[in-house]
Amino acid sequence: MFKGILITKDDGVYRALLQDIDDAVLPDADTTVQVEWSTLNYKDGLALTGKSPVVRRFPMVPGIDFAGTVIETSNTAWKVGDRVVLNGWGVGETHCGGLAAKARVKGEWLVPLPASFSARQAMAIGTAGYTAMLCVLALEKHGIKPADGEILVTGANGGVGSVAIAVLAKLGYQVAASTGRPDEAEHLKALGASTIVERSELSAPGKPIGKERWAGVVDTVGSHTLANACATTKYSGAVAACGLAGGMDFPATVAPFILRGVTLYGIDSVMAPLTVRQEAWERLGRDLEIAKLDSITREIPLSEAVAVGAELLAGKVRGRVVVDVS
Ligand code: NDP
Repeated sequence: MFKGILITKDDGVYRALLQDIDDAVLPDADTTVQVEWSTLNYKDGLALTGKSPVVRRFPMVPGIDFAGTVIETSNTAWKVGDRVVLNGWGVGETHCGGLAAKARVKGEWLVPLPASFSARQAMAIGTAGYTAMLCVLALEKHGIKPADGEILVTGANGGVGSVAIAVLAKLGYQVAASTGRPDEAEHLKALGASTIVERSELSAPGKPIGKERWAGVVDTVGSHTLANACATTKYSGAVAACGLAGGMDFPATVAPFILRGVTLYGIDSVMAPLTVRQEAWERLGRDLEIAKLDSITREIPLSEAVAVGAELLAGKVRGRVVVDVS
């Protein structure tokens, strides 16, 4: 038996409870990890509250990320004692995840814990931070340089947004942070934002094309915000779309793409190949200041995960939440 959160759905009643979990609940896989730290991402909030059908198999241990130590493996890539991180791959959705003391997964899903981070810091980054880096890499590979102009980051106080701001600022970009919490402006500026944009400026229906403002965009919000971001991106600029915190729809026209040559990049962290993950983690080791990461990290025990998951969906959490699973 081990401690963890278990989601059940019996007679249509969805429950997420901290309890002692039987080893038999863990799926068959070649590598067992003693989980030390996990985290709460937006998707974990959806899973813990049952607000969206993220969990596809019951009973399920939620938690799309974890960091810990290999305690059993038949995978030749790993040995007992190896320090590892897992992000995504459907873990916490279709395969038991990280909000428990033990996880059993395919060894090929694991990456070594980067030398520059502790297990706790790796979870402070988590899927949100690694996705932020995937967005930054997309803009960089597009050829956007700091001299090209401002980068807009939407959902600025969220996990993805906060890490994106910190990384972009370290790389020398001017960052415009769009937020529905302008009272957090000082915090966003301390992270590296130079301009604060009110969420309402972007979230209402806008024109097919507007004044050119952004060299690039990291969008975590979707819906009208993404449409307006595309409509106000400069000629040949790029938008990295990774989220739907404001809605899954995309009420846009083709105008920014065919009149301004704007490129829209879709960013997926869940099934990203190993080489992409390794590049993102390596770059996080170089381009994310630990002091900034610490400033956006809040620590909670496993017993608070369900309640804080609901807070996260309500947009009340700032930055990242790490969960002490040990
Ligand atoms: P958080 O909940 O930490 O942050 C989301 C932020 O979006 C909030 O803090 C808030 O920022 C803003 N926001 C919330 N509700 C609304 C709304 N109704 N309209 C506009 N803005 C809103 O989530 P994460 O940062 O972890 O994730 C952000 C998004 O990215 C999610 O949709 C998530 O599913 C997605 N995601 C996608 C991944 C992928 O692989 N593609 C991986 C990771 C995340 P503020 O208060 O500053 O306005």
